[in-house]
Amino acid sequence: MMLKVEHIGIAVKDSAASLKLFEALLGTPCYKTEEVESEGVKTFFYQTGDTKIELLEATREDSPIAKFLEKKGEGMHHIAFEVADIHAEMERLQAEGFILLNKEPKKGADNKLICFLHPKSSNGVLIELCQEIR
Ligand code: ZN
Repeated sequence: MMLKVEHIGIAVKDSAASLKLFEALLGTPCYKTEEVESEGVKTFFYQTGDTKIELLEATREDSPIAKFLEKKGEGMHHIAFEVADIHAEMERLQAEGFILLNKEPKKGADNKLICFLHPKSSNGVLIELCQEIR
């Protein structure tokens, strides 16, 4: 089962402008920046209570975020749920008919194992499962 909404991912074109905007919106500065080179993405984190906001900026033209921005423009990209056992959740969701975008969890930003579900199997919403690496 899902433990909580761990973060909401938002795709942005220009992190310099968006960092100012989200700092003003949330009333707190970005506390962490991390690049995930394998995904061609730079991430920026904000803490809002128990949940985080993750801004996503492309670092390469062929990265998934660059393609998303090209197709849909800036905006909400995914909802990430924290899980206790990502392998068990992947198995459960696959059995429920959800389409997993990767067969094995991969290493994401923020010290997490992650797996995405295809938005076409979840009402158009890209879902991320994440489990803290301990
Ligand atoms: Zn995420």
